[in-house]
Amino acid sequence: SFATLPDLVRLHARDTGAHVALIHGEVRLDYRALDARIDRMAAGLQRDGIARGDVVAIVAATSIDHVAMFLAILRAGGTVAPIAASSSPDALAAVIADSGAKLVFVDKATGDRFADALSGATVIALGEDAPIGTPLSAWLPEEDAEPTPVPLAPDDIFNIIYSSGTTGSPKGIVQDHGMRWQHVLRGRMAGYTAEAIAIISTPLCSNTTLVSVVPTLANGGTLVLMEKFDARRFLELAERHRVTHAMLVPVQYRRLMNDPEFDRFDLSAFRMKTCTSAPFAADLKAEILRRWPGGLIEIYGMTEGGGTATLAAHLHPHKLDTVGVPVEGHVMRVIDEDGQPLPPGSVGEIVGHSPLMMRHYHNRPAQTRDAEWFDEQGRRYIRTGDIGRFDEDGFLTLLDRRKDVVISGGFNVYPSDIEVAMREHPAVEDVAVVGMPSSEWGETPVAFIVRRARDETPAAEIRNWLNQRVGKTQRISDIIEIDALPRSEIGKVLKRELRDMALDSDG
Ligand code: ATP
Ligand code: MG
Repeated sequence: SFATLPDLVRLHARDTGAHVALIHGEVRLDYRALDARIDRMAAGLQRDGIARGDVVAIVAATSIDHVAMFLAILRAGGTVAPIAASSSPDALAAVIADSGAKLVFVDKATGDRFADALSGATVIALGEDAPIGTPLSAWLPEEDAEPTPVPLAPDDIFNIIYSSGTTGSPKGIVQDHGMRWQHVLRGRMAGYTAEAIAIISTPLCSNTTLVSVVPTLANGGTLVLMEKFDARRFLELAERHRVTHAMLVPVQYRRLMNDPEFDRFDLSAFRMKTCTSAPFAADLKAEILRRWPGGLIEIYGMTEGGGTATLAAHLHPHKLDTVGVPVEGHVMRVIDEDGQPLPPGSVGEIVGHSPLMMRHYHNRPAQTRDAEWFDEQGRRYIRTGDIGRFDEDGFLTLLDRRKDVVISGGFNVYPSDIEVAMREHPAVEDVAVVGMPSSEWGETPVAFIVRRARDETPAAEIRNWLNQRVGKTQRISDIIEIDALPRSEIGKVLKRELRDMALDSDG
C-alpha cells in the first residue's frame, strides 16, 4: 500500500512518539500529540462529509493547528487548498470559489478582513477568537474520535496551490501525492532526517514552504514555525533551537545579512540553507557563504514543476551567477518563440520534464495546454515562461521572465542584465527594470530604484553612470525613485505594479 504524509507522521508517532514535531512560540507538540490531533480533526472533517478528493481550504497564518489541519485534510482523504490571505476580498472570494472548497478554515485576521467575502462558505475558525465561523473547539469531535482510514494512491490529489499571480491572476496548480513523495526523497538527500530542525517563515500557501515542511515531517524531524518573518526574531529562534535547515527567499537573506547583530548569533548547528522563488544576487550568495556556517542551495523551479535546477553554492563558488544544474532525473531544454528546440548554449524559454510536474491547472484546460510542450518522443514538458541559457558546463543562467523582456528597437533587452549593472552603484539599495511603451523604440527600459539611506546622488548622474556601462540597447531612459519595491507575500517583485505606476506617473 502507499504511505501518505500523514501515514508517515503516524509511523513516527508510534516509533519515536516523544520526539518534538512542531514548535511555535513556547508551545511544543510531539509526534504522538500531533498524530492524535490529526486524527481528531480528520474525524471532524469526515463527520462533515469530507471524502476522498473533496477540497478543503485554509486561509490562515502559520500555526500548529494550521499544520495539523493540513495533515488532517489529507488523512480524511481530501485535497488541501492553502490560500493566501493577502489578496483583496473579491480576489479571495474568487479563489475560494474556483477551488470548490466545501469547508474553509480561517484565523482571526482572515475573519476580520474577509467576513463578507466568506459569507457564502462554511467557515471554521482555527483560533478561539475569530469573528466569524464555528470556533474550532466547538467544531472538534470528542477527544478520542478516529477517522475511517481512506487508502490513497500516488495519483490521488494532495493539494491545489494557487500561483503567486506575479504575472496574471492566480492559477490553481493541482499536485498529487506521488509528486510530494519526490520532495520526501530529495529532502533525505539534503539531510532532512529525524535530527533535522527546520524553520519556516514563509506562508504555508506557497510551494516554497511545503518543499521544506513535507520532508521534515515525513522524515520525523522538527519544524519551528514563524507566522511572520522578522530578521532578529529569526536569528533568536535559530540560535535557541539549534536550527539545522532553513528555506528562505532572497529578500529575507538580504535582511538577515543587513542585521547589524547577525554575527553575534550562534548559527553553528546549521547544515543546509535553501533559497528559491526570485533572483538571488551572486554577491548575496557570496556573503552568506562567508558569514553563515553550513551549505547553501539555490533552487530554481516553479510550482507547476517544469524541471528544477539547483546550485550548491558552497561547492561551486565560481558559478554563483547561475542557478545551477538540473536535478537528477529532470530534463530541461531551451526552445524558441515558435516552440522549436534550440541547440545547447542558445538563449530561449526554458521547458522542463520531471516527476514534480503538476497534473494540470484547476478548471483551466486552455491554460494547461498553453503551458505544455512535447518533445520529439511525445514526452510532456512544462513551459516555465522564463528565459535562460545553459553554459558549456551545463549550468543555467536565468535572464528574465518572458513577459518581462523588453523589446527595444527590435532587440531583446533583459532587465536582469541592467539590474545587475545598476546594483554596482553605491547609491542603489534595490532596483527593478521594466519596459515602458516608447514611440521611438517600441519599448524602452525604465529603472525603479530604492536609494540607500542618506545618499544624495542626483538621479541623472546615476542614469549616466549606468548608461556608460551597459550596451547601447540596454540604456535606460528614466529612473523613478521609490521607497520600496512592491513585492508579493513571498517576496517577488511585482513588475506589473511597477509598469502601472510608471504609466500613471506619465499620464
Ligand atoms: P504566476 O505564475 O502566478 O505569475 P509565479 O510564477 O511567481 O506566479 P511560482 O510558481 O511560485 O509563481 O514561481 C515560479 C517562478 O519564480 C519561476 O518561473 C521564476 O520566474 C521564479 N523563480 C523561481 N526560482 C527562482 C530563482 N532561483 N531565481 C530566479 N527566479 C526564480
Ligand atoms: Mg509562474
